[in-house]
Amino acid sequence: RSERGNWHDRPRIGIMGGTFDPIHNGHLVAASEVAWEYDLDEVLFVPTGRPVFKLDKHVTNAEDRYLMTVIATASNPKFTVSRVDIDRPGVTYTIDTLRDIRAQHPDAELFFITGADAVAEIMQWKDADRMFDIAHFVAVTRPGYTGTDALPEGKVDRLEIPALAISSTDIRRRATDGEPVWYLVPDGVVQYIGKHGLYRGGERKG
Ligand code: ATP
Ligand code: MG
Repeated sequence: RSERGNWHDRPRIGIMGGTFDPIHNGHLVAASEVAWEYDLDEVLFVPTGRPVFKLDKHVTNAEDRYLMTVIATASNPKFTVSRVDIDRPGVTYTIDTLRDIRAQHPDAELFFITGADAVAEIMQWKDADRMFDIAHFVAVTRPGYTGTDALPEGKVDRLEIPALAISSTDIRRRATDGEPVWYLVPDGVVQYIGKHGLYRGGERKG
């Protein structure tokens, strides 16, 4: 029996993919809202390896992004972190993420969670059609992004969530410029960024 008192014959698992450079409260609210609305048993956060849409950009090394994701999700009993994308060599394609998680959870009903900006790219994703066979897709609203209506009929659900105008890009810029990131990311992530000198600017580590 689920938290909401319903019976489901199959475990219901959300998949929250992202670069998480760093993970922030917008990601956490999105996962929490979808978990509640879809009565999920678990949400797997999946930090990407080399994100295909960010090949031209600097991305923080995978272990730092993974550890920040672990720190940010540790207190929520439904949230877990998967290494499938960072352990798979090469560029990350969502179809591979879905296949790996399906193989680990053969009997689960899967819900792939994306923001309104990412979902606009879905149709360009490799093997978009086959992804819809593996998981349901839930697109959450995100401040500054519209256009979830350009999606194929009936393939992607749309869910309105409390608006948090937070992006990892803005967090990185703040950290580089010495501005505060408190309350935009979990406290442990603020500390991790400081301790490891992430986003300090000047010479980039990579
Ligand atoms: P960047 O600015 O580096 O692209 P980001 O803030 O967009 O970082 P990602 O790791 O790219 O974070 O996003 C992972 C997923 O979370 C994407 O599906 C994205 O749309 C969604 N997402 C990110 N921020 C928010 C937010 N504030 N509200 C809702 N969804 C979000
Ligand atoms: Mg993004």
